[in-house]
Amino acid sequence: AQLDTLDIVVLAALLLGTVAYFTKGTYWAVAKDPYAGSLANGAAAKAGKTRDILEKMDESGKNCVIFYGSQTGTAEDYASRLAKEGSSRFGLKTMTADLEEYDFENLDSFPEDKVVMFVLATYGEGEPTDNAVEFYEFISSEDVSFNQGVAASEKPLTNLKYVAFGLGNNTYEHYNSMVRNVTKFLDRLGANRIGAAGEGDDGAGTMEEDFLAWKEPMWKDLADSMDLQEREAVYEPVLEVTEKPDMDPESDDVYLGEPNKNHLEGKQKGPFNAHNPYIAPIAESKELFTVKDRNCLHMEIDISGSNLSYTTGDHIAIWPTNAGKEVDRFMNILGLSEKRHMVISVKGLDATAKIPFPSPTTYDAVVRYHMEICAPVSRQFVSALAPFSPNDNIKAEMTKIGNDKDYFHDQVAARNYNLAQLLEYLSQGQTWDKVPFTIVVEGLHKIQPRYYSISSSSLVQKNKISITAVVESVEIPGATHVLKGVTTNYLLALKQKQHGDPTPDPHGLEYAIDGPRNKYDGIHVPVHVRHSNFKLPSDPSKPIIMIGPGTGVAPFRGFVQERAKQARDGETVGKTMLFFGCRKRTEDFIYADEWEAYKNDMGDSFEMLTAFSRDGAQKVYVQHLLKQRAAEIDRLLQQKAYFYVCGDAANMAREVNTVLAQIIAEQRGISESKAEDIVKAMRNSNAYQEDVW
Ligand code: FAD
Repeated sequence: AQLDTLDIVVLAALLLGTVAYFTKGTYWAVAKDPYAGSLANGAAAKAGKTRDILEKMDESGKNCVIFYGSQTGTAEDYASRLAKEGSSRFGLKTMTADLEEYDFENLDSFPEDKVVMFVLATYGEGEPTDNAVEFYEFISSEDVSFNQGVAASEKPLTNLKYVAFGLGNNTYEHYNSMVRNVTKFLDRLGANRIGAAGEGDDGAGTMEEDFLAWKEPMWKDLADSMDLQEREAVYEPVLEVTEKPDMDPESDDVYLGEPNKNHLEGKQKGPFNAHNPYIAPIAESKELFTVKDRNCLHMEIDISGSNLSYTTGDHIAIWPTNAGKEVDRFMNILGLSEKRHMVISVKGLDATAKIPFPSPTTYDAVVRYHMEICAPVSRQFVSALAPFSPNDNIKAEMTKIGNDKDYFHDQVAARNYNLAQLLEYLSQGQTWDKVPFTIVVEGLHKIQPRYYSISSSSLVQKNKISITAVVESVEIPGATHVLKGVTTNYLLALKQKQHGDPTPDPHGLEYAIDGPRNKYDGIHVPVHVRHSNFKLPSDPSKPIIMIGPGTGVAPFRGFVQERAKQARDGETVGKTMLFFGCRKRTEDFIYADEWEAYKNDMGDSFEMLTAFSRDGAQKVYVQHLLKQRAAEIDRLLQQKAYFYVCGDAANMAREVNTVLAQIIAEQRGISESKAEDIVKAMRNSNAYQEDVW
């Protein structure tokens, strides 16, 4: 048959596509050394690092890879716990791998004597985590393009053995959708799942226990399937720490908390991102209210000259520093105080080990800047530390806590203990000097930047990012410790310093506020910007309805600021309804004066509705106000209004969703289930957006 021009064009395109497909791994290989500096910097790509997972496993003698899709570090932590357990209990040769660092075209060549594990967090509205986006696109497009009619034996992944665990939150609509979809795709492609796909639920607060309960039967199934013999688990380090008493901690090549080489060399070089923060000046800071034991901060972070940019609705990440008080506690209980400034070099014992911070460094820098030392302790970690207890009685107690879920809850979780507090309590202050430093580095999370919904408009202040944050301070009646949020108390201390307050740190937490080598001196904080999908409609005349009680109002301050400016500039601005709630008008009604000014700019297009839960005899919340305005809300929705919810994910956001469905049902005379479908459709078309935490 003759080929016409169109056929030739199509064929050529197909051929090009095929070549690109099969050569993807070699052409687009980007090796990443997270500490080499800014990542998009070509020089940072270290030659010779493969994106071929099979090649990597073969060269390092591994038969089990645990991929993680992680946003806040929990999935990554679970992956490394599975790796350790697989190795110490079953003799598997394990490695963990960031989904972003490999290609998946050769999943079909996995031999049957290897196993792949996936630990996948679901983020926001059922989305993959940032590092899992490409993998998810790949596996879902494979699923779509795959001919479902083929015989089982011809399915491409029949040799692939895999295990899966998902991290999700049942307060979100698409609960654990990552693990659910990925297992669905893999199963349809013929892969063999070992054990059930696990699902951890952060919404119910049972993530850790869900993980522990899932992994035991999974290990049994895996052991059967791969003919593995279980043995008594002993701690096998993945890292090696070497002390360097001859090195001077002040010498130029020792990292004292600098996140990467650029920072060590004193050059701030962009692009600034999740691997490379910008040390930003805080232009202004103040407290929006100060009621006893409750602080709410407003800060203006100056990004001019950094090349960082944001659009209204984005998030800013703040890189925290641990409080000196907690660093000291940690050092003391582990017997490290005397040598806290000793230079140490940290190495992986094999090529696949991940070192969570740059080295050489010091004990002090690692504990202060790189590890999440204040976080809750996991039950599995208590068991892992038991053999290193100072004496047999304490060891027995640690073992009991590690084995007994309820006892763990009473002794540890209910008291909000962090690791050092627990160890202090159990040994009554006696040092735990048998604990290898590597086990804590391997067992604790890497410190995570915290996100804040930007509370300014990029149209109004392109180079200054506002944040609105409540300082975390959780007191349990009868407990000996008050839990102090890591980042927000650090921000509070920065604000105090900026104002030359005589008590630079109101809680005696004593931050190293000037940063490593005084690099943060003059009120600076390390940040990066994360772009979000929480966005105003591009057409300002569209109506919007915003629900943001408490600090949930943060992004809406940005939204309203933007619309007020558009109104001042003569643009037509649609109805802008803001539902806000707090305790008392006179106590925590944040930005009260500003809302008045926006009203002057926008006139009747702007309406603010307030619910004060402690002002009257009856508690009023934003949900009640919504109901009172049912008719108008439905009318605006019919006019294609955008509906936004920000703030508390656990209760408020869920209730608002329910109330909205009730309003639609009542107003339109339809069933609640129909109305729920309408809300779902709004979510799918981005007319209903959430920014919740
Ligand atoms: P952390 O130290 O992280 O502690 C937070 C909580 O973790 C504690 O309250 C406690 O419940 C638990 N916890 C910590 N340690 C322990 C322990 N040892 N035992 C038991 N429980 C423990 N916040 C705002 O104020 N404003 C915003 O605009 C805002 N926007 C956000 C946007 C997004 C997308 C996200 C994900 C979060 C947002 N947050 C916002 C929340 C913010 O990121 C932080 O979580 C919050 O400020 C607390 O941080 P922290 O470091 O001070 O507290």
